[in-house]
Amino acid sequence: MPRIDVELLEEEWDEDFRPPRDKQYSVAANERIEQDEPARVVAVDRGRVTVLLDGEVLEATYAGSMRGVRVVVGDDVRVRPPRHETDTPRVTAVLDRRSVLQRTGDDAVDEARVVAANVDQVVVVLAGDHLAAGARFLDRVLVAAELGGVDAVVCINKLDVADPDEVADVRRRYEDIGYATLVTSAATGEGLDRLRWQLEGVWSVLTGHSGVGKSSLYNHLVPHADQEVAEIGRRGGRHTTVASRAEPVAGLEDGWVVDTPGVRSFGLGFVAEEDLAGAFPELRRLGCEHDDCRHDGEPGCRLATATISDERLATYRRLLSSIRGDDAWERDEWGSDPDEEDAP
Ligand code: GDP
Ligand code: ZN
Repeated sequence: MPRIDVELLEEEWDEDFRPPRDKQYSVAANERIEQDEPARVVAVDRGRVTVLLDGEVLEATYAGSMRGVRVVVGDDVRVRPPRHETDTPRVTAVLDRRSVLQRTGDDAVDEARVVAANVDQVVVVLAGDHLAAGARFLDRVLVAAELGGVDAVVCINKLDVADPDEVADVRRRYEDIGYATLVTSAATGEGLDRLRWQLEGVWSVLTGHSGVGKSSLYNHLVPHADQEVAEIGRRGGRHTTVASRAEPVAGLEDGWVVDTPGVRSFGLGFVAEEDLAGAFPELRRLGCEHDDCRHDGEPGCRLATATISDERLATYRRLLSSIRGDDAWERDEWGSDPDEEDAP
């Protein structure tokens, strides 16, 4: 029988290969793997995986048996410790995900990219001076969060240049639904303690359009990470980070934050048309006669009697037609930079 060269297999690791879903979620079944150490993925950069094992951060590689399986930040894995001095720790299995935040390139694509797994909450950052565009992005992330089992927090940054009435409106809109909102200014430092407090004891993902001040906030939370902050007006002053990484938040006993590269789109191509309404808590609560009500004039629909914000209702309708493929993808409406890195 020919010897299988594990090293060679790993060298041939194909970044673009995506296994069928069930394989990604495979649970460590065999006993040998059960004996490997439980660890959590804190960073992924191509074939290299950084894991947190017993409080220690270690570089690991995929075991040969993991070919075709990808892990993401936050994944619970099993790691086999090195067996000799030149050996590296090997990721031998990825466990079932408790929650998942995923998106697609656009609404017509149904192949999802997992932003992070097993995170407790996503903090969506909006720029206080671009609240309308920010809210459209936010609504998309909220759908993904609701369906993925992730809590969501709305963070309005750039408070120093925001219109207080507009900020109050947006906060009320989302608090009425039940989302926590907070306001920050990475420039003046306002609200940063409150933000930090929000991250205590949990794993959070920070996301938002490019330019909203995510890196600036992140640098306050994780000062040693020293992320590049875009210079004002510099075209192409985009994030250099492509890899995704979790870091402990400075000043907290426990609390990890995952920074994602600024994205130009948060596609919801993975969302089935019939699941969309369920991702809007205020629509879910309506109690229409039919569980699968699309709130589109059906008999027994209670939409007319409800007080749902015009903006959210407009989002629901827009997303529904976008997922159905009725409408052109709304990317351009966001005024985003076409050259911007579309991150993994
Ligand atoms: P990112 O693309 O979301 O990571 O945004 P950056 O952190 O790179 O910030 C984009 C621009 O907004 C930079 O010029 C920052 O200096 C600026 N910025 C970030 N936060 C604030 C803020 O709270 N107030 C103001 N006025 N500008 C900010
Ligand atoms: Zn209805």
